[in-house]
Amino acid sequence: MGKPQREETMKSPNHAWLFDVDGVITHPEKKQVVRKGIFTEIIKRLKLGEPVALVTGRALSWVMERVVNPLSSEIDDKTVLDRLFVSGEFGASRIQWKNGKPFHGIDSSISLPKKLAEEARKAAEAYKDTQHIDPDKETMVSIEMNDGLTVDEFRRNQLPLAKRLNEILASQNAERKFEVHVDRIATNVRHKAINKHYAAQQVIRWLSKIGLSPKQFFAFGDSAGDREMADELHREGKAVTFVFVGHKEELGSKGKGYKTVITEEQCDDGTVEFLKSKES
Ligand SMILES: [Mg+2]
Repeated sequence: MGKPQREETMKSPNHAWLFDVDGVITHPEKKQVVRKGIFTEIIKRLKLGEPVALVTGRALSWVMERVVNPLSSEIDDKTVLDRLFVSGEFGASRIQWKNGKPFHGIDSSISLPKKLAEEARKAAEAYKDTQHIDPDKETMVSIEMNDGLTVDEFRRNQLPLAKRLNEILASQNAERKFEVHVDRIATNVRHKAINKHYAAQQVIRWLSKIGLSPKQFFAFGDSAGDREMADELHREGKAVTFVFVGHKEELGSKGKGYKTVITEEQCDDGTVEFLKSKES
C-alpha cells in the first residue's frame, strides 16, 4: 500500500555480473572455455537470481557456439537463462531469454546500410590473400587476418584496405555516422556509436525491463577498453567495481569514482580467482 507498483515489482539481487568474453571467459589463445570453474561460478549466480551479461564485439553466433551452448547444456532448468543477456557486436545485437526460450534482436538503426556493406565487402575481395570477411557479423563488416600470417604481414595489407574503405565511406557521405576501425587482427566498418559504453547501456535497459535493480555491479575485462562498461555503469549512478584480469601495464589510467581490482592470475584464471573469492 502506498508504494508505487514499479517499486514493488523491482527485485534487488545483491550483484550483477558483466563479462567481456575473449580472454575473460574464453582462453586467450584457444578461444574456448577451458576453465571448468567458469561455468560453475556463472551458473551458481544465475541460480541465485543474479543477472549475468556477456559483452563482446564478436558476432553472436560465435558466442553461442563457444560459450552459451556449452553453458546451457549444464543447466537442467532453462528458465535460469532468463537472467542471462548476451550482447554482440558492441551492443548492436543481442540474445535474451524468456521462460527459457531465446530471443534474438538487432539494432537496425545501428546497422550498416546495405549499399555501404556491399561496397566494403567488394573492396575486401581484392585482399583475400591476407584477410577474410567474417560471415557471421550482422550489423557491421569485419575483415579479419587470415590464419598463418604474422601481424606485420597482415598490417602491410590492412592499411591499404582501410584507406580504400575510408574512401568508400566518403563517397557515400557516411563518415558522420560510420567509421573504419583498425585493430591488431581486424578492420571493422561500423557505426560510430557502438562500443562497450553502448553495450553497457543495453544491459542497463534489459535489467530495467526484467525488473531487476542489482545493488552492486562487477564488470570484468582484459583490455583497457573494457573499462568503458564500468565507466558507463558509474555514469548511470550504479555501484560498480571493475575487475581487470589482463596485463597490469596495459590497464592505463585508473577509473574515476569507482573501485578497480587487479587479479593475481590472468585472463580466464583471473576471472575464476575473483569469482571464487567473492561468494555471493
Ligand atoms: Mg577481451
